[in-house]
Amino acid sequence: MLQTPTRHLHFIDNEPTAAENGESIPVVDPSDGTVFAQIARGSAHDIERAVGAARRAFDGAWGRQTALERGRVLQRWSDLIEAQREELAVLEARDTGKPITQARADATALARYLEFYGGAADKFHGETLPYQSGYTVLTIREPHGVTGHIIPWNYPMQIFGRSVGAALAVGNACVVKPAEDACLSLLRAAELAVEAGLPAGALNIVTGFGPEAGAALSAHPGIDHISFTGSPLTGKLVAQAAAVHHCPVTLELGGKSPQIVFADADLDAALPVLTNAIIQNCGQTCSAGSRVLIERSLYGALLERLAERFGALRAGPAMADLELGPLISDKQRTRVRDFLAKAESGGIRTVAQGSIVGEAPSQGFYLPATLLADVPTDHLVAQEEVFGPVLAAIPFDDEDEAVRIANGTPYGLVAGIWTRDGGRQLRMARRVRAGQVFVNNYGAGGGVELPFGGFKHSGYGREKGFEALYGFTALKTIAIRHG
Ligand code: ADP
Ligand code: MG
Repeated sequence: MLQTPTRHLHFIDNEPTAAENGESIPVVDPSDGTVFAQIARGSAHDIERAVGAARRAFDGAWGRQTALERGRVLQRWSDLIEAQREELAVLEARDTGKPITQARADATALARYLEFYGGAADKFHGETLPYQSGYTVLTIREPHGVTGHIIPWNYPMQIFGRSVGAALAVGNACVVKPAEDACLSLLRAAELAVEAGLPAGALNIVTGFGPEAGAALSAHPGIDHISFTGSPLTGKLVAQAAAVHHCPVTLELGGKSPQIVFADADLDAALPVLTNAIIQNCGQTCSAGSRVLIERSLYGALLERLAERFGALRAGPAMADLELGPLISDKQRTRVRDFLAKAESGGIRTVAQGSIVGEAPSQGFYLPATLLADVPTDHLVAQEEVFGPVLAAIPFDDEDEAVRIANGTPYGLVAGIWTRDGGRQLRMARRVRAGQVFVNNYGAGGGVELPFGGFKHSGYGREKGFEALYGFTALKTIAIRHG
């Protein structure tokens, strides 16, 4: 039976709002290639309306709320998200193709971000500073005002939660531009925010294409801070547009994160983590552990065990809940295939490949997990973010070489270190250039409590954890001379 695709509108001033141009964008289910919904095609006009609504909220009802009240709204919202977890997860699985268990974890993470930042709202404060006699000096952490949030398609709920949760907790009003490929869960989450008591205009969502709605948001002079998660190239465009009106930005731009395995590592503990770090969300994870650097004496043996695991990995529809779902789009699959073709023409060895299950519809965007070995450190697949289920294995001889290879890409987001030697754990953790370092584990982004962000081309600024609250506020110093 053919179903009429559901039509979704922008969310502005707590109301579903049609695009000014009346246009829409089809929403594709990556598991079977069908169009099952339509979203509004946002333009500069819609962004203008959303920014106006946010400004009124900031100057009005939302701006007047106390930290305690803001925190309570976020915590009620968190409870509602948790109560609707299954609905949100199914929506996300359909929209992104990710296996339903992973989508459920994302919904739970969204609830957890709102709980964390709701709890933090009234525990974040300034200081008093020593100064000349006769003075009292204090600092206040003030919200920027209207914050823009440009969200990618890989983890809509998680990235929305960490960004909007922190921004709202400290009193900003938000305008969100989700990715055109995946925004349905966020539109639903926004409805729940109304139920939780969020005043109109504190949160607005404008859907649409990046170069249209996204570019209009980054260039809007009424935006006081932008947080962007996505590709390095788009991040550059957003930062350039924001610079014109001196708007601060936080950029999270992905990585080529290494997992470094020494010969003394606990392999039984490492193996499932090494695999999961690259296949989670079909490799479409900024913090994916996409390179495994292996001490040479262990290289052959570990490759063999990894190959066994990769051979058993299955890709299938989101609701079949296998190890891998499809990639987000045909465009993304073509991109990953191009990398694999370049690996092959470069003579790089494919050691193992997973499978696509028979029940996977042929119109879905599937690709089997692939393990590549002896990847030259200067090859594209050792340097660039593939954003697919492709793991590059590279041998090393000693700590110095491991550090050189680990740090030898343009990125620096996350690193994993596997060794039982305590001194080496700390030496390596200090020497790798990465925003998060995991020793004998790998969090692929870690918990909501852990600050996250990059060095080098992985971006700047930190989101997540308490640290994010500093980024979403500006410091004001007040010096009082009282004699
Ligand atoms: P991808 O190419 O995989 O979609 P992007 O980094 O381009 O990755 O997308 C991340 C987010 O940035 C999405 O919400 C997208 O719509 C948005 N975006 C894309 N191009 C621009 C742009 N020129 N200005 C602002 N946002 C953009
Ligand atoms: Mg989609």
